[in-house]
Order: sequence, then structure tokens, then C-alpha cells
Amino acid sequence: MEKRLFKSKKTVAGFCLLALFGALTACGSNESDKGKTAEGEKIDIVTTIAQIAEPISVIGGDRVNVQSLMGPGVDPHLYNATQGDIGKLEGGDVIFYSGLHLEANMVKVFEEIGKSKPVLAISDGIAEDRLLKDEGGATDPHVWFDIDLWKHALGAATEKLKEASPEDADYFESNKTKYFAELDALKQEATEKLAQIPQERRVLVTAHDAFGYFGRMLDIEVVGLQGLSTEAEIGLSDIEDTIGLLLEHRVPAVFVESSINPASINAVVEGAKKQGLDVKLGGELFSDAMGDAGSPEGTYAGMYRHNVETIYQALK
Ligand SMILES: [Zn+2]
Repeated sequence: MEKRLFKSKKTVAGFCLLALFGALTACGSNESDKGKTAEGEKIDIVTTIAQIAEPISVIGGDRVNVQSLMGPGVDPHLYNATQGDIGKLEGGDVIFYSGLHLEANMVKVFEEIGKSKPVLAISDGIAEDRLLKDEGGATDPHVWFDIDLWKHALGAATEKLKEASPEDADYFESNKTKYFAELDALKQEATEKLAQIPQERRVLVTAHDAFGYFGRMLDIEVVGLQGLSTEAEIGLSDIEDTIGLLLEHRVPAVFVESSINPASINAVVEGAKKQGLDVKLGGELFSDAMGDAGSPEGTYAGMYRHNVETIYQALK
């Protein structure tokens, strides 16, 4: 059904070209005034990460089909678009990615696709002074861990959906309002939970530096072995420094991430043990990828809740 409409749109465009010297004003107005769903068609949305796809499927409700290119366990920093992905992007009506160089190897693909359809980096509109940067000046792309910033990004995506289907604007807005109220409650719940961890033990050690926004929002010091992107090498000194910090604060646990090789974190645990501190693996956190679709951790809120609960249980 969707494919049929997609083709018919092209036919309309072609016809407009032919009619260019004729009734020019008659062309185009149909497409912009009347959205896709007026004809019972759903908007096909393609996203990179599931942290976008799942919330957008809630906001878009029954007027959209959403698929994300990157599934559980996939590292977006290193991800290259497959031939199958290109096909999905070409077949989609609206494309959302996170941006801020998260999907570093896909920028050219989005530039190309953006010539023929709406493509939005949903984090792009976040105010500069709300973004975190590392010592080298690189922007931290993991903005979904600040619930308010992610609401901003999802709000920008919602506006794009309204442009794609103006007659559904009220429906999208109402879904968004309900969903954002849930996210506000989630923020409250997370804040209260982590405030119960004693201040001196509020240190979150993970393999790569994905939790900066999480730490800022929830008042936890964050240490990532690898920096903002997984492209960087992990040096022996990074591991030694981290062990020193664990000893200093008597931190009881460190965490692995679902999309990252656990070798470096295991090296930290072993090193700390040799120096007499019994550091445990606190469990697996979802950083750059979410859990399986259909499981609680396959939703943005469920993924967030899992992380908060796992950190709380290990550090309390
Ligand atoms: Zn990352």
C-alpha cells in the first residue's frame, strides 16, 4: 500500500514537470495540503537508533510505521549502512537520526537521502549551552540520557511528523503530551531512586563515556574508560587511573554495556582486586543500544529504568 502511494507521488511530480508550461499553480498544492494518512496510508519512518524509534512509534501511534536500522547490541559510533539499510531509507517517507556525530559513518548517506525527502538529526536543535563537551572540544552525542534534552529532540521530530501529515497534527501533539508526562514521572522516579545512594559511592564507571548527561541530571560522577566515541583506543593509563579512583572512593561496582566489548571493564575489576579492592561487576547497562523489542528494556523508559535500578542495586 505504502509503495503504491510512493510511486503515485512520483507520477504526480512527473506530471507537474510536463505541465510546467500549463496550469502551474494547480500542481503541488494537493501534496502539501493533504497528508498521507488522509488516504488511510501510514507514514513510513526509518530511524537509526531504537531510542528514537520506540518513542516516535508512541507519538505517531497508528498513523505511522517505524523501523530502526540498529538493533540491540549495535554500536552506532562504528555502524556503517548496509545495502539493506539504503533500501529501507529510500523506501521511507521521513528519516530520523540522532546526530552530533553519533552515527559518524552515516553522515554522507543522510546528506544524499536528504535531497529527496525529509531527514532530521533530532538532536541538532538542542541549545549549545545544554550540550556537554570533552577536553578536546568534542560534543557528547549521548543526549537521550538527559530526559529533558531527549524530550526536546523528540519534540523536533514530532514537528517534522506534523509537516508530513498536517491533518494528524492534533493527534501527534496529544500523544506527545501524554508521553512526555510519563517521561517527567520517569525523571522524578530516577532522581529519587539514585538520591538514596550515599554521596561518596555515587561514581558510575563504564567502558565508554556514554553517561555524562545521565550523571549531570542525576548527580552521579561518571567515569568512562574510552571517551565519547568507541573509536578511541583504551590505554593502560586509563585503566590504571580508573583503578586508582575506585580505590580512593571504595566504589563497590563497575558496569558493562550491552553494545561494548567487556574486556576493558574486566581488566579494571581484575586490577582492582590485585590491589585489594573487591570490585564487582554491577551488571549490564544499556548505553548506545536498547534491549530486545517487546521486552521492557526495548522501550526508552524501560531501558532507562533498568539502568537506574541496576546502578542503584550495585552502589547503594
Ligand atoms: Zn556511545
